[in-house]
Parts: sequence; C-alpha cells; structure tokens
Amino acid sequence: VLVTAGGIGGNHDLVRENWPDRLGTAPRSLISGVPEHVDGRMLGITEQVGGRLVNRDRMWHYTEGIKNWDPIWKNHGIRIIPGPSSMWFDARGRRFPVPNFPGFDTLGTLKAIQDSGYEYSWFVLTQKIIEKEFALSGSEQNPDITDKNLKLVLSRVLPGASGPVEAFKNNGEDFVVADTLGELVRGMNAITGEELIDVTDLKRQIEARDREVDNPFTKDLQISAIHNSRRSRGERIARTASPHKILDPKSGPLIAVRLHIVTRKTLGGIQTDLQGRVLDGAGKAIEGLWAAGEIAGFGGGGVHGYRSLEGTFLGGCIFGGRQAGRALASQA
Ligand SMILES: Cc1cc2nc3c(=O)[nH]c(=O)nc-3n(C[C@H](O)[C@H](O)[C@H](O)COP(=O)(O)OP(=O)(O)OC[C@H]3O[C@@H](n4cnc5c(N)ncnc54)[C@H](O)[C@@H]3O)c2cc1C
Repeated sequence: VLVTAGGIGGNHDLVRENWPDRLGTAPRSLISGVPEHVDGRMLGITEQVGGRLVNRDRMWHYTEGIKNWDPIWKNHGIRIIPGPSSMWFDARGRRFPVPNFPGFDTLGTLKAIQDSGYEYSWFVLTQKIIEKEFALSGSEQNPDITDKNLKLVLSRVLPGASGPVEAFKNNGEDFVVADTLGELVRGMNAITGEELIDVTDLKRQIEARDREVDNPFTKDLQISAIHNSRRSRGERIARTASPHKILDPKSGPLIAVRLHIVTRKTLGGIQTDLQGRVLDGAGKAIEGLWAAGEIAGFGGGGVHGYRSLEGTFLGGCIFGGRQAGRALASQA
C-alpha cells in the first residue's frame, strides 16, 4: 500500500490541534486553501497500523487569503501572490513593522498577525498597484497559463488587472474600492462591523510613507525594497508598480483588502526511509506500507524543516513518489 493522501489543511481542527507556539495562538477563523479531501484522515489510519508521525507542528499557511466569491470547495480561500508595494496593516490599522512586507516572510508575518490579537489584516493599495502586482494562486485563477494561451499570458505585462483579479475586486466580500480615504475607511469598518480603523491615524501613516517616495535616500525599507525589486527588468516590466504616492488620486481609486489566514501546506507527517517505506516507532520499516508526497512531509516526514522555501513543494512530491515507485517496482 502506498499512502499519498495529501496534508491536513482542509481539516481546521487538526491544523489548530497541531498549531505550534512559535506561530502565536492558533486562529479560530481560517479559510481553506486546499480542497476538503485534504483532511489528514489517512494520517490517523497509518498511525493506527503502527506508522510513526513526526514533525506534526510544522506547517505553512498564507497570510494573504481572500474568500473566493465563486467557491469550488467549502470555505474556499485564494491566496493573493503580492508584489512589494501594498501597505500592510493589522486589524487596528497599525502598519506592520519591518520586514513584514507583502511576499517577504510568510511565517514571520503570520506570527505578527497572530500577535496583533486579531486574525486578519489589511492591504491598502491603489488601482495602479492591483493592476501590476496582484496574482492569484490556483489553477482556475490562471486560465491563461492552464489553457496554454500565450496571447493571454503575454497580456499580463499590459496595463489593467487580469480578468480573475478584476472579478475579485468587483465581487469579493473582502474588497473595498473608494475615491477618498474617508470613504475607504468607512468601507473597511463596515466589513468588520467594528470601528477599529481610525481615518486620521491611517492617513498619518500613509502620508509618512508617501513622503518617502520623493526621498532618494529613504529609510522607509518598503520603498527601498520597491526600488530594489525594480532593478530586475522582469520585475519592472511585469510585477512591481513604479513607486507612487498611495494618496495621489491619479493612481486611484484606493483599494483595501481584508486578508485572512488561508491554510495550505503540511510540512510534517508520516516518517519514511529514503525508499518511502513507512517506519514504526522503533524506526523499523513496516512490511508492505509506503508513503509519499505531502502526507510524508514532502519526503521522509519533513524534508523542508520548519520554514521551507516558497514553491518547492511539488518537487518533493514527485521525487518521493518516484523513489517509492521505483522501490515498489523492484520488489514486484
Ligand atoms: C492552490 C494551490 C497552489 C499551490 N501552489 C504550489 C506551487 O506553486 N508550488 C509547489 O511546489 N506546491 C504548490 N502547492 C502544493 C502542492 O500542490 C501540494 O503540496 C501537492 O499537490 C501535494 O501532492 P500530493 O500528491 O501529496 O497530495 P494531493 O495533491 O493533495 O493528492 C492527494 C490525493 O489523495 C486523494 N485522497 C485523499 N484522501 C483519500 C482517501 N482517504 N482515500 C482515497 N483517496 C484519497 C485525494 O482525492 C487526492 O487526489 C499548491 C497547492 C494549492 C492547493
């Protein structure tokens, strides 16, 4: 038997049960970045037959989750893959400290959000930023790539947000679009039903950031990061908006996006040897039982360690599956 049933991200109780202290308190509210079948059921079943589970507290969840307005599975969350320019605030409208910039340190920002006492956060940005810097994770959100439509792929460098991003802006319950900051803040507070964001305080922080756009020697590290990113031609053309003032009406309208914690990867799981054979509590291979993929922590029970590197997960699934497949074939 080769167990390849995936991780635990669709089972929020299990995610909370295994939640590590190093990521702050476990969120009561989560959205699902994986389908419902990613429920961890086979972990328990493998354990019942003697398989050893290790590194259960290693996990990777995203901080830029939005509720899918057109869901495919229950509680469907989509991750925004952001460029560096959106301003990031906690639920009370306090800008997160360095280095919690969009796309910089997923697990570090997850801890910062949990430490804020709330389970969501806000991006504040402009139309100019959303057009260039928002990508959405998930095959159905990237029809140009999944349909291998080169013309549509190339249109990503043209002005304007992609169809799926525009649809979220218009239909997503987490989005506020407004011409003035006052209107934007009213919309943000209406979404949460609490008067947590103070317009004067938010304006002060955005103006402080905007002032630094004119300063070639700025110490605002997010502005420095935007300049740094644009040194790469690819980023400049397709991914990072030219630096501009958020409160400049020419770059508007203003946009606020409420961000949830969206579950995704399970970095621990069934312990195996290099061939994918499931090990028992004494480290002995269990006859006839194998595991590969996310359920085996992408290999061996946790090949990535605690933090992992973005986008390197499928490789472990494919390599681990190949190892197990070859070993099984050699036994046949
Ligand atoms: C939106 C999204 C974007 C991602 N982007 C990336 C990326 O860019 N780079 C990257 O490296 N990784 C990415 N990942 C992660 C990666 O896709 C997964 O880690 C990987 O697909 C896991 O593969 P797997 O075969 O181990 O498990 P899965 O793909 O989850 O497959 C498990 C299979 O087992 C079946 N199953 C489950 N339980 C049972 C059961 N009890 N009985 C029978 N069948 C069962 C399921 O139906 C499913 O077909 C992304 C994941 C998602 C959801």
